[in-house]
Amino acid sequence: MRSKIVVGNWKLNGSLAGNEALLKALLRDIPRENPAACAVCVPSPYLAQVRALLEGSGIAWGAQDLSRFDQGAYTGEVSGRMLVELGCRYVIVGHSERRTIFGETDALAAQKYVAARNAGLTPIFCVGETLQERERGEMQSVLARQVDALLHAYGAVGLERGIVAYEPVWAIGTGRTATAAQADEAHAFIRGRIAAKDEAVARQLPILYGGSVKAANAAELFAMPNVDGGLVGGASLVAQEFVAIWRAALVR
Ligand code: PEP
Repeated sequence: MRSKIVVGNWKLNGSLAGNEALLKALLRDIPRENPAACAVCVPSPYLAQVRALLEGSGIAWGAQDLSRFDQGAYTGEVSGRMLVELGCRYVIVGHSERRTIFGETDALAAQKYVAARNAGLTPIFCVGETLQERERGEMQSVLARQVDALLHAYGAVGLERGIVAYEPVWAIGTGRTATAAQADEAHAFIRGRIAAKDEAVARQLPILYGGSVKAANAAELFAMPNVDGGLVGGASLVAQEFVAIWRAALVR
């Protein structure tokens, strides 16, 4: 059985003082040994601070993006190798904000996924349709296109130690959450697409739901057979909310 994972995405938020207060509050409630994995993906400048506070705890950490390059003349980039040096386990790849605001393509997201895996990180590969795409009945074709970019770049075996996050763009930061049934349907479609290439890889692949996950809706979402936890934006900045979401992942 797949175990659950709850990952916070702090986005472009944080301060040295605020991070410390938030993480100390999380550490009071999330024990070292815990059956549902928990992580925070923070802005890269804070990784050293986060590492110092979380090392040896039950909370892992990661970044929100990485370069497709390992090193060289690429001003402003941060490589997977650097993230590993800072103790990261996870990195978010292809988040819809990177795709829509920064113009990342399916191909670039797939290249970043490969770079993350080559560095030894666990990439969290985000996919999801916009509201217009859903209303046009294109949810499945969009997900297929995004997942196929990854399958073409790396093959199904590349998903063996990765994570996929289904994040319908219309639900991110909007307060509008997919229903548990909508999330499960999309997750089942993604799993099926990968199963067509490699059944065993698809069966063990964690697929997280992201999009306005809150304490109030987490349990219902996480109870669905294809939902293996959550990628949590806004609610991960509030200790009590994030802990409650993580607790919802403890109950199968
Ligand atoms: C996200 O940023 O990945 C996300 C799901 O954000 P929110 O939970 O705020 O919708």
